[in-house]
Amino acid sequence: MSHELRTPLNAVLTFTESLTEGIYGPVNPRQGSALRMVMESGQRLLTLINDLLDLARIEAGRADLDQVFTDVHLACRSSLEMVRELAGRKQLSMQLDWDPQAAALRVDPRALKQMLGNLLGNAVKFTPQGGRIGLRVRGDYERGEMLFTVWDTGIGISEEQAARLFQPFVQLDNGLARAYEGAGMGLALVYRLCELHGGSVTLESAPGQGSRFTIALPWNALEQPGEAQPAAFAGRQAAPAGSPAAQPSQGVSDAQPGAPRPVKILIAEDNPANQVVYEDFLSSLGYQVFAAVNGQDALELAARLTPDLILMDIQMPVMNGLDALECLHGSPALAHIPVIALTALAMPGDRERCLNAGAREYLAKPVSLKLLAEMVHRYAR
Ligand code: MN
Repeated sequence: MSHELRTPLNAVLTFTESLTEGIYGPVNPRQGSALRMVMESGQRLLTLINDLLDLARIEAGRADLDQVFTDVHLACRSSLEMVRELAGRKQLSMQLDWDPQAAALRVDPRALKQMLGNLLGNAVKFTPQGGRIGLRVRGDYERGEMLFTVWDTGIGISEEQAARLFQPFVQLDNGLARAYEGAGMGLALVYRLCELHGGSVTLESAPGQGSRFTIALPWNALEQPGEAQPAAFAGRQAAPAGSPAAQPSQGVSDAQPGAPRPVKILIAEDNPANQVVYEDFLSSLGYQVFAAVNGQDALELAARLTPDLILMDIQMPVMNGLDALECLHGSPALAHIPVIALTALAMPGDRERCLNAGAREYLAKPVSLKLLAEMVHRYAR
């Protein structure tokens, strides 16, 4: 079901990306802004589909969490990164307020990203131009909880309306329904994911006063792994559901003793739709997948994870793929990692530019998944 829904949408999104980048000829400003609308609506639809499928899985009791030690700081930063562009367009300032003591948490990293991403997305959506949003993390030793608060200076919501916000498909009264259009399912998902982790979510808000959503997740402050897995977007892992709380061994926890180490693939891709498609596809083939949202993020994750293979998009904000390739190439510790350039660039000479910068291979988008699988298999040990 998930594949059936996502595949055609992915085609819509990747072709729109290719059109936007001029692969099929020059795009004039009016066409460009129309394409942006297609892209944004497509991405919104993808988010809805993902939320809907996840909710359905949870309601059916078929959701299992992959709880592993997760680097909380990195997860928070990646979640903020996902809304940075939208926030920038509304000139919202963003703040991350972070507790160095609350560094690692046993949590399903994908679920954590979903919860924070949904709350931050709403914060951006419901905060007027020029406002502020933020994410605050605190460890509560006494209660054994880690608290994630997403706050904004937005339109706010009354107490009695708030209670109904966490129910999926709830019919809110007209004014509120218009103001909070599209918020319902994301919040329902946040609520359910918290419940699954044995945590809770609360809201403090008043109309016109902004909102503060706080997620409280169970936390054992004494249980410290040697190194938290920087798995902001870690793929589903091989560890069986309900496996005993594994010894926090070196590095990636929950690895089975004796079992071969999973092949780690890092995907650097700024387009959330592509990220989801590649991540799902490669995870389904048994790879352990991590995602970075730009070149700089990719370099940091590469240094921490030493992945077996990197898939690198070229056009990314902050640091593009070509620059990231050159940094990797110049780093004694990382130069050996093979990189496959995955890009919507498909102009004459692009292939050479990527290969000269140090990529082993080059795949033009939209990428055939079959070809991707073959290439990944060849390069991943
Ligand atoms: Mn890109």
